Amino acid sequence: MLKLKKCKDVWPILKGSEKKPENWIGWPDGKKFALVLTHDVEHDNGYRKVLQLMEVEKELGFVSSFNFVPERDYIVEKSLLGTLKQNEFEYGIHGLKHDGKLFFSEEIFFDRAKKINQYIQDWEAVGFRAPAMHHNLDWIGELNISYDLSTFDTDPFEPQNEGVGTIFPFWVKNKRHINGGYVEMPYTLVQDFTLLVLMREKTPQVWLDKLDWIVQNNGMALINVHPDYISFNNKTESEEFPIEIYKTFLKYISTKYANNFWNVLPYQLAEYWKRNYEINNT
Ligand SMILES: [Zn+2]
Repeated sequence: MLKLKKCKDVWPILKGSEKKPENWIGWPDGKKFALVLTHDVEHDNGYRKVLQLMEVEKELGFVSSFNFVPERDYIVEKSLLGTLKQNEFEYGIHGLKHDGKLFFSEEIFFDRAKKINQYIQDWEAVGFRAPAMHHNLDWIGELNISYDLSTFDTDPFEPQNEGVGTIFPFWVKNKRHINGGYVEMPYTLVQDFTLLVLMREKTPQVWLDKLDWIVQNNGMALINVHPDYISFNNKTESEEFPIEIYKTFLKYISTKYANNFWNVLPYQLAEYWKRNYEINNT
């Protein structure tokens, strides 16, 4: 908790990160904010809960995107990817092996980037998030993606902890990239693991307060919730939190901000951003 006190000037809200992009045109249909729900599937335990989580979101009227690790302890089935797509959900790629080595050197990264690009093609995915939010936005340009999710506005609790300081997406101009760049979307709500496992919060209040502030500033609320840490029954094992906490978060949005938010899939937001802001940042 000492660290929390020390961080209060930069977390959960970083002053200045609400500054709007140049030539701001707002969100489609005059919506007050964009809402992007993402999930990283860490292990087999999380993989087995993917469809359950999809159903919960669907029932409450939301859509989201799941990021899968191609080479870890579960096999990514094409049928599961198909089910997500049929339900108008999305999926992306979460690293290659999740062994902490992806960004060790340029050589390792470029070698693995070739394999990641094969999975991108094979799965017909367009998005990426690096394990442990490690990032090098220049190297990431080697990936054939339209967006990357490996950064955050502000988060002193991450291993590579410098944030990008904005609650909006931004265009990353990148000479390596097939399209000359890609859209970067930082998460702007603290990760579930940090809040509900490490800090042991019992409510989503930190999410709700930050969300209200993002709405006031017309920003992008982007969250990363892991099926691995969710308990769908009344028993919560260690490193788990009850699904009710996440449901409370979603219900708060649909009640308080009904019709005022744009619950968008990352690939759609990337298209929107590229169309409207690519030129501004080149
Ligand atoms: Zn991960």
